[in-house]
Amino acid sequence: MFNKSIKAYEEACEVIPGGVDSPVRAFKSVGGTPPFIEKGEGAYLFDIDGNKYLDFVQSWGPLIFGHCDKDIENAVIETAKKGLSFGAPTVLETQLANEIVEMFENIDKVRFVSSGTEAVMSAIRLARGVTGKNDIVKFEGCYHGHSDSLLVQAGSGMATFGSPSSPGVPADLTKHTLLCEYNNIENLKKCFTDSSDIACIIIEPIAGNMGLVPADEEFLKACRELCDANNALLIFDEVMSGFRASLKGASGISKTKADIITFGKVIGAGMPVGAFASNKRIMGYLSPDGTVYQAGTLSGNPVAMAAGLVSLRKLKANPEIYDDLSVKALRLVNGLKRVANENNIPLQVNTRGSMFGFFFCEKEPKNFKEVGFCDFKRFATFHHEMLKKGFYFACSQYETGFICTKITNEDIDACINAANQIMKNL
Ligand SMILES: *Cc1c(COP(=O)(O)O)cnc(C)c1O
Repeated sequence: MFNKSIKAYEEACEVIPGGVDSPVRAFKSVGGTPPFIEKGEGAYLFDIDGNKYLDFVQSWGPLIFGHCDKDIENAVIETAKKGLSFGAPTVLETQLANEIVEMFENIDKVRFVSSGTEAVMSAIRLARGVTGKNDIVKFEGCYHGHSDSLLVQAGSGMATFGSPSSPGVPADLTKHTLLCEYNNIENLKKCFTDSSDIACIIIEPIAGNMGLVPADEEFLKACRELCDANNALLIFDEVMSGFRASLKGASGISKTKADIITFGKVIGAGMPVGAFASNKRIMGYLSPDGTVYQAGTLSGNPVAMAAGLVSLRKLKANPEIYDDLSVKALRLVNGLKRVANENNIPLQVNTRGSMFGFFFCEKEPKNFKEVGFCDFKRFATFHHEMLKKGFYFACSQYETGFICTKITNEDIDACINAANQIMKNL
């Protein structure tokens, strides 16, 4: 039933390293080969063998309205008809920036880029430029894209392959990256005693790249206080959690406010978009107003802006979407927890808005090391069997799942029933 995908994968491997353009897609951590996708439709994916799946990956987060949402599709088509790119300003960029600025009291200006990686890389350069300092604090298991200095203990793709860092990244570049345990205040304080050259703390306030592990509120507060006391900036990487965990992402849930926020995924609705944003003073350092250089030929691409604009406007106009998504995410994980209990399988579950996570372990993980205690073999079997039954979960225990607006309670209940059958033999 995967014949065409297996063949497509073999052919891809001949001309693309590992057959994929982003490593986690290769299914290495769960074994087997990935289905090749033909099309999406609402909450569903269809592969080239004609298999249909309920999609909990949603392109790793961007598709909060599911596949082929009519409003987004129309905006993309109409905008594309006028030209794909100009390398000159369009009002769409101002409109999307305005939508974001209106939502966050700590944001006055936004700069658009083409990926989350770029957004974070640029935010860090900005933080260094503003503070005149060099070191950055990052947490084990948080992923901030694949730029050199951030590729240290970076969760998901990296963790899945068991490589703590990557060849090709000079130690000279990562020596400014101070690594710290997530949710560990003492450890964080030590970073600031060890170095007086810290430009910023970068954190996923809701970590989604070591499975779903939210930061404790006291921990975020400690981040804020340590930054303030040491003239460092706090960066919330909300590339995943932005417009996902709540309308305002983690920033809408936590009392702690960041100096710079990075976005991606949902703001592009499936098109390649990233952004970083801050107040007037900090953004004033950015070229061409200031001297911190950052640029992009396709940045603020009109088609991508149009997709993001429709998506954000729909979310803002219908904030009750988040209540519905939260309830559905809870319905799913509570159902999974119940059937796991019935089958004597230890399972820890978590949700934040439309994000959900589950771990095959005895105790809720609070950091990357504890996630490592999960039963990865059990996850791999579960993943594979669910896939065969038509449920497409992220292919690693280190990933987060996503609920889209097109998913129904019936879809979720069917998933829980399938999980129950599988857990009987897990
Ligand atoms: C996905 C992700 C990134 C990287 O975004 P890309 O668009 O894949 O470059 C950065 N930070 C976080 C928190 C992410 O989840």
